[in-house]
Amino acid sequence: MKIYSETLDRQKAYFRRGETLSYSFRINALRALKNALKAHETEILSALDKDLGKSSFEGYATELGIVYEEIGYLEKHLKKLMKPTRVKTPITQFYSRSYIIHEPMGSVLIMSPWNYPLQLTMVPLAGAIAGGNTAIVKPSRYSGAVSLVIKRIIEETFQPEYIALFEGGHETNTALLDLRWDFIFFTGSPAVGRIVHQAANRYLTPCILELGGKSPVIIEESADIPLTARRLTWGKFLNAGQTCVAPDYVLIKRGYASAFIEAMKKEIVKAFTSDPLNAEDLPKIINEKHFERIRGLISGSEAAHGGRCDVKHLRIEPTILYPVKETDSVMQEEIFGPVLPILEYDSFEEALDFVSSREKPLAFYIFSKNRKHIEKALASVSFGGGCVNDTVVHLTDPELPFGGVGNSGMGSYHGKRSFQAFTHDKSIMDKALWLDIGVRYAPYRNKLKLLKMLMK
Ligand code: NAD
Repeated sequence: MKIYSETLDRQKAYFRRGETLSYSFRINALRALKNALKAHETEILSALDKDLGKSSFEGYATELGIVYEEIGYLEKHLKKLMKPTRVKTPITQFYSRSYIIHEPMGSVLIMSPWNYPLQLTMVPLAGAIAGGNTAIVKPSRYSGAVSLVIKRIIEETFQPEYIALFEGGHETNTALLDLRWDFIFFTGSPAVGRIVHQAANRYLTPCILELGGKSPVIIEESADIPLTARRLTWGKFLNAGQTCVAPDYVLIKRGYASAFIEAMKKEIVKAFTSDPLNAEDLPKIINEKHFERIRGLISGSEAAHGGRCDVKHLRIEPTILYPVKETDSVMQEEIFGPVLPILEYDSFEEALDFVSSREKPLAFYIFSKNRKHIEKALASVSFGGGCVNDTVVHLTDPELPFGGVGNSGMGSYHGKRSFQAFTHDKSIMDKALWLDIGVRYAPYRNKLKLLKMLMK
């Protein structure tokens, strides 16, 4: 569609004019974004409630608060991040100064999913602004109420030749991906990630893919069961399990499952009452399609707790499935809902092998007091990021890069990494004029010996 290519062309011209480059421009844009979010806070929280049934507490803790923290980090560190980085120069290049210029990528596309519709749009956008880029943002069609507020915020705060937002479904996605970008930042499923990667390939456009998959939890025999149950209940049922880094399934040492399930039942009741379908703090499933998909996954295994669904309000009880076999349907895809399957293992090596023989997960969690086992797991399993004795919280630390590996994605962001994600490291060797050592020039004759002394 013409409007997309015209907007991108205008953004490219705006970028070429150097409008987005200065520190003052970027810091003002970050501040303007933060102020606009603050001014629309009530609308944002109620849109999150409308789309996903998120309580204001959850909306603030997992969306708005995270965006504020990210913008705050970038504001605080922007000047330093923008400065060229001095590096050493080899003696063979005496006398030069070597440094890295962190140049903006240019005009970028940001595509986000529906599960954390504010956070997963605004955190990358803050990175794009800090990096000195122009941006077109495409949120998910499924979280329409939040998209509408974000659109208003962007249109009120920025000129479209700097930052614009387009809503829409399949046609919009395809039309946007057809254009030539300087960088694409995509968050979503591995299946769509492949489509994005293929589209990017056409122009060799660099991209970051923040994807998903099944994130495992290993509960080892030394684990503190009550605390494990509490932290797992929180991480799993946050946003009704519709979290990319949500614990997807549990592998527990054989013999410990019933004690763990009992402890988890208690935590579920504590958090969501014994009637969770009517609990204030349990979010809903995004739409009927996903609701039916999750309901189908529950029916394929035995429920040790929960299992009831309310189709009218799209709510599903926090559900524990046990016993579960690896061939059950719940183990064949990312659950992305409030359902936790529990499988048992006999030896720790068997548990590690179970995880390592599958796609590399976005997150991995281990609950244990055995440092040797913890270190072995962290060294041998490949995954995006994770926690020891907790779930999900690793992504609240701006010092920790957030991203996947293999099937769970490529590239990372948050904090300093957000700036790096949206900039290119341009390497410069800046040579002095007052000296010109002749070793490198032909004729080479007797110079090999000297060269060997310099380059060894
Ligand atoms: P999705 O892949 O269906 O959609 C993501 C985005 O891609 C949306 O903007 C959507 O409009 C667009 N899209 C959908 N189909 C497309 C197509 N054929 N061509 C081009 N664009 C298309 O993902 P979702 O259902 O919105 O989100 C759930 C998935 O996202 C899960 O796999 C989850 O793990 C993952 N996720 C990852 C992260 C992360 O940070 N790594 C965060 C949240 C969600």
